[in-house]
Amino acid sequence: VSPSEFFKSQIRTVRGWPKAGVNFRDVTTLFHNPQAFRMAIDVFASDCERRPVDIIAAVDARGFALGGALAYHLGKPFVLVRKKGKLPYKTISESYQLEYGTAAVEIHMDACKPDDRVLIVDDLIATGGTLLAAAKLFRELQGNVIGVAALIDLVELGGSQKLRAAGLNVHALCE
Ligand code: IMP
Repeated sequence: VSPSEFFKSQIRTVRGWPKAGVNFRDVTTLFHNPQAFRMAIDVFASDCERRPVDIIAAVDARGFALGGALAYHLGKPFVLVRKKGKLPYKTISESYQLEYGTAAVEIHMDACKPDDRVLIVDDLIATGGTLLAAAKLFRELQGNVIGVAALIDLVELGGSQKLRAAGLNVHALCE
């Protein structure tokens, strides 16, 4: 099987969660398989060897598992992009639209320096709103956001297209 078929086979679909009609892509099954988890991190890491990064950032909360492992592997600084109200120090904040209402993500105001090359990691790209808001935060600090990495791209929702239109490289392990 191809790497993308392999990764796909490691992700569980939970039908009707969190509400009727939704097929939730559950990456805890991939995290549970050490070989699959390692392979995912190794693929992201080899990307970073081709396109060097200074900072690994990851999105609350499943992104943390991936981003933490990747930052450890590469020996790079690791930054948390958190849901609003969770970070203790001075923050900058970015709101974005959800299907119903809005959400906001935050980083510490000293999370990166101007021109730092930043990669942002999350488990899944749906509408792209979360990763785009995260990218805006680093851009506000004059960071050079080189791209985003995710396990899954729900291509039909147009998120990865939106992220590319914003000048970001998008790397997803499967669709
Ligand atoms: P977006 O902002 O619409 O791209 O949604 C992506 C965010 O929602 C990510 O932080 C994901 O963790 C989360 N998300 C949305 N749908 C799913 C899913 O089916 N499985 C896991 N996470 C999801």
